Amino acid sequence: MIQKLADLQPIILMGLLMTMYTLESFMPYLEKPVHKRSHDIQNFILTFLSILVNGLVGTGVVLVIIFTESHKLGLFNQIQLPSAIEILTSVLLLDFGSYCNHHLLHKIPILWSFHRVHHSDLNLNTSSSLRFHPFEVVYSQGLYFCIAIGLFGVSMTSFIIYGTMALILVIIQHSNIRFPDWFEKYGRYVFSTPGWHKIHHSNEQRFTDSHYGDVFTFWDRIFGTWHQIRPDEIKYGLKEFADPKKQKVGYQLRLPFIKISK
Ligand SMILES: [Zn+2]
Repeated sequence: MIQKLADLQPIILMGLLMTMYTLESFMPYLEKPVHKRSHDIQNFILTFLSILVNGLVGTGVVLVIIFTESHKLGLFNQIQLPSAIEILTSVLLLDFGSYCNHHLLHKIPILWSFHRVHHSDLNLNTSSSLRFHPFEVVYSQGLYFCIAIGLFGVSMTSFIIYGTMALILVIIQHSNIRFPDWFEKYGRYVFSTPGWHKIHHSNEQRFTDSHYGDVFTFWDRIFGTWHQIRPDEIKYGLKEFADPKKQKVGYQLRLPFIKISK
């Protein structure tokens, strides 16, 4: 069963990217950007690189899970819990760790220099979902998960379930689709919905430095890192990247090594 879910991940990834990208044309949330074609091509090149690097570091993470299980390392390899409790706790811990890690990406200058590739997008749509610098993918999808799995002894089952949830949400969150009001109103009690996450992409720093949760909204609510604002009231991106030349793939890949004043 869990192997089937793991095997399905590439299909979920490509299927959801294509479905959301197509639906945006019929039920857009905000107007299309002026240079949509160029915007989307640049983003999909970065997406391709992210998927490639993710595949490589994902293999490393799987090896770490096998190692921790066989050597009984990490919390859940030391204690016996009913499997449903273990999976639920692991998913929550991985998401809380991810919330903390996302906070660090914004607060530590060297990490922000990579993460701002994702935030510098001036127009959010499905093509923005996996617009990450390859080094950030190594850090957030590789190093972070290796440390979290080593500490908590997360099982393969829990990792695949969390990874699938995060994958589905990251694509839905960035899509430029108008979802029904009830979906936003009730969904965000638990999940980081599209309207909730888009506030994180505001070009105003107080909003950018909030709504860090990847899957759940609990952590932002507990630590007060959230705002009540409609996403159609905000402007996306970072003000220092308004020049279209700064949206090109070549510039974005060099971005972490360029000194930029706000
Ligand atoms: Zn961020």
